[in-house]
Amino acid sequence: VLQVRGLSKSFGTNQVLRGIDLDVPRGKVVALIGPSGSGKTTILRSLNGLETPDAGSVTVGASHTTADGSAGKDEPSGVEHNLPPLTLDFSATVSPREVAALRDRSAMVFQHYNLFPHMSVLQNVIEGPIRVQKRPRAKVIAEAERLLDRVGLLEKKDAHPFELSGGQQQRVGIVRALALKPQLLLFDEPTSALDPELVDDVLAVIKELADEGWTMVIVTHELAFARQTADEVVFMADGVVVERGPASQVLREPKEERTQQFVRRLL
Ligand code: ATP
Repeated sequence: VLQVRGLSKSFGTNQVLRGIDLDVPRGKVVALIGPSGSGKTTILRSLNGLETPDAGSVTVGASHTTADGSAGKDEPSGVEHNLPPLTLDFSATVSPREVAALRDRSAMVFQHYNLFPHMSVLQNVIEGPIRVQKRPRAKVIAEAERLLDRVGLLEKKDAHPFELSGGQQQRVGIVRALALKPQLLLFDEPTSALDPELVDDVLAVIKELADEGWTMVIVTHELAFARQTADEVVFMADGVVVERGPASQVLREPKEERTQQFVRRLL
């Protein structure tokens, strides 16, 4: 579903991404780990059209075929997957329309939830599908209520974010992303702002989505969670990928010295 090639980005003289390649096949989960400042958030923001890289390309939705040549399985929850692949080449000028198209295919769950404070829970969830995606209101509301019910928050649909715990707010953040029916879900340290006792509920929801077959990129410091949930772990430092591989291998038997040091400190 996702193919990233040679992604580079500088802020002034600070080169944050130095030629990142990343592949996420349909239905797979990639955990992005690494020290603070290594560029993980900048990658996610680039995939969601919130940041414009200086060079490289991003392709979303390249149609997936399995080894025997048959079509891959459908995306969960009625996500349309017959869209033609979309490629943004950041070495050339990228139009606002292309950025909007990229944003339409991915949805981000933020570290600090980023809910609209003046809107109810339900309004937060339906805003994007109705206003941006122009989908029919009644259908969007019905789907939003089903998703809220699924994460145990239907009775909170008329509450405002400040009336919810951090864990509840983040579950709304996840529902808001799902309601956009993206091909790709992006999680930016989804539990790092939460009190420890609220972390597990949110991780359980994310794990369920992974098991359901959503395609996801997760930036996380929760290495035990990454080991259980991710198919592949990518360790980056200073804007480059240092090591990547199956989650159990990178987290249990890292080959690179820098990965070893990082993993040892966090596990
Ligand atoms: P963390 O784990 O702390 O979130 P990270 O790996 O996600 O770190 P990024 O947030 O991608 O790292 O940041 C990488 C570098 O880019 C940092 O040095 C940061 O200060 C810098 N940076 C990020 N966004 C901007 C910006 N808008 N303007 C200037 N510098 C930025």
